[in-house]
Amino acid sequence: MTRDARYDVLFEPVKIGPVTAKNRFYQAPHCNGMGRSFPSSMATMRGIKAEGGWAVISTEQVEIHPTSDFTPATECRLWSDQDIPYLARMCDAVHEHDALASIELCHNGMCTPNNYSREIPLSPCHIPESYHNHPVQARMMTKSDIRDFRRWHLDAVKRAKTAGFDIICCYAGHNLTLPGSFMLPRYNQRTDEYGGSLENRVRLFREIIEDAKDAVGDTMGVIVRFSVDELRGSEGLESIKEGREIVEMLAELPDLWDVCLAEWDNDSQTSRFADEGFQEPFIDFVKQVTTKPVVAVGLYTTPDHMVSIVNKGIVDMIGAARPSIADPFLPKKIEEGRIEDIRECIGCNICVAWDNMQAPMRCTQNPTASEEWRRGWHPDRIAPKSDDGSVLIVGAGPAGLEAALAAAQRGHDVILAEAADELGGRVTRESQLPGLAAWAGVRDYRTYQLSQMANVEVYQSSLVTAAQILEFDAAHVAIATGARWRRDGYGRSHQFPIPGTEGNNLLTPDDIMDGIRPEGRVLIYDDDHYYMGSVIAEQLIADGIEVVLATPHPEVASWTNYTLEQHRIQARLLELGVKIVTSHEIKAMTQDSVELGCVYSGQHQTIAASSVVMITSRIPEDSLFRELEADTDQLRQTGIKTLKQIGDCHGPATIAAAVYEGHRFARELGEEVEEIPYRREITELSPEFLVP
Ligand code: ADP
Ligand code: SF4
Repeated sequence: MTRDARYDVLFEPVKIGPVTAKNRFYQAPHCNGMGRSFPSSMATMRGIKAEGGWAVISTEQVEIHPTSDFTPATECRLWSDQDIPYLARMCDAVHEHDALASIELCHNGMCTPNNYSREIPLSPCHIPESYHNHPVQARMMTKSDIRDFRRWHLDAVKRAKTAGFDIICCYAGHNLTLPGSFMLPRYNQRTDEYGGSLENRVRLFREIIEDAKDAVGDTMGVIVRFSVDELRGSEGLESIKEGREIVEMLAELPDLWDVCLAEWDNDSQTSRFADEGFQEPFIDFVKQVTTKPVVAVGLYTTPDHMVSIVNKGIVDMIGAARPSIADPFLPKKIEEGRIEDIRECIGCNICVAWDNMQAPMRCTQNPTASEEWRRGWHPDRIAPKSDDGSVLIVGAGPAGLEAALAAAQRGHDVILAEAADELGGRVTRESQLPGLAAWAGVRDYRTYQLSQMANVEVYQSSLVTAAQILEFDAAHVAIATGARWRRDGYGRSHQFPIPGTEGNNLLTPDDIMDGIRPEGRVLIYDDDHYYMGSVIAEQLIADGIEVVLATPHPEVASWTNYTLEQHRIQARLLELGVKIVTSHEIKAMTQDSVELGCVYSGQHQTIAASSVVMITSRIPEDSLFRELEADTDQLRQTGIKTLKQIGDCHGPATIAAAVYEGHRFARELGEEVEEIPYRREITELSPEFLVP
């Protein structure tokens, strides 16, 4: 296939000081839960993105000194020469594909409690550490601390050069960095030349950029990452005021402006709350005040949108973190005219969640994310089949669709049977709930790919029985029949029947998705803690139903803290008029009321409600699998070599987990699989502990 000429502009080179990006695709810095703890995994992941066509590959934040110790987060570090080798491997992997390696040098200042180094956090003024609310305060930096900081930054610049980076990124973004906090009056009450006027508050940032330029400026690009707006109104940095003035002051100093919103939850908004290009109203002034190239992120997945923002003069390069995780080959696919093959990021922030848990990131759309090194999974290639057996997949939710696609890509003949009229399983159903429309991308990418393959037959409206499966001539069978929500309240908080739940005024999310609506006031009981309780609340409010949401947790949708959505969800529910009762469990129910008990005091309150939507846990739909598995003689006679349950019918979890299980099923077909099916990265013992 050839590239559509209208996308040519995306493949023009961009000069970044003394280095040149081969096209306009810029993989913005992003954490990944691997960093220094899983360095081979991190380096391989970056190299694969370079292979996928990104012209600039950035690190995540790289801590430059023990006073910036973000433990337990697993970012990269450049504290001493000891940290150079793994970053050098990343540079090698990036250079192998003719891309530029960029390093985001970071000092976290007052945002980090320094759990490992035990250093006292540093800040423009005395202030408690507020990122984690640890019982520690940052101390006001003296002049000699400021000199030290400049030296540490410069040392990191030099080490980065030794490691082989092409670009130094000086970082003042996301309300996470020392130079950034110097800019903000709410943190900077200094009376010396680093406080007071805007020029004074920007001085430190200017100095580290100048230091870097003096040291390496004719050999490396020296760029900035700067958050122009904090969405805090006049209390914070605003792109219409000092956010703009700072860009104007430093306009020509860096070789490129990477501009974004602060904090991370504003910069990485989910598709539930933001659309493609959501940062443009805040960053569109930047190109008017500098001649240097500008890059910005904003869930960019559509080539036409990318072209339009370049042509409109909003940016010179397309910044992407999440879209580059969902599809590391996004640029290559545009370049090769394979637009339909782009695996679009659905903006769910599952990747962010696992990074927030200090574990290798996962991706709903890309099951190979973080598996590149440890399992050798490539996002755009898969090994050919190792036997000729055909594959039958029952259930076309995310697990079944991905299993079918990956098995077909390996060259197997695949039959995919789905009981419902539509493909997509839970993705089709859930994407109809408020704010989740983009999630249909999980289905749409896969159904399109399957429709293009000659070796796949898809049967809709086909409820498959165990007897039929035994009659098929399939060598490999995957049961991907999903799960359904329980009605009885069993889950995290209740392991014994709740009095009254045997009544007929109980609904589940499945009922709501089937179009059933409660009569009168409804109480949603959310013991699930992810998105479902809140989207069902939004749906019922939209249907004109009065809603009370009760949860045993002190916050609504508490797990969405990991996806950076919690405060937006709680705010939205309050705006919509949902009555929220936190820290309460259901104790009993009648036809017109629900008895709630406080999880701390045990005190009861009665809420008038004529129906309850129970969102507590799910039961796998695994009867088909169990029926087949029980009849081992029959199985042997039919020649079925593989019988597996995958996705929610194996263990109800996220859509990402279902996609991964489907992918794994296909990758492992006919292969010998070790007990631990991946390589591990293990911290090495110090030489004195090694047995001679
Ligand atoms: P997962 O997230 O694991 O992919 P889903 O619940 O999204 O699970 O999808 C399961 C799909 O399996 C649903 O679309 C459902 O209609 C389908 N299904 C369940 N039982 C059968 C069956 N016996 N025959 C065919 N399809 C089935
Ligand atoms: Fe996008 Fe979700 Fe994948 Fe993150 S996990 S890259 S938000 S699809």
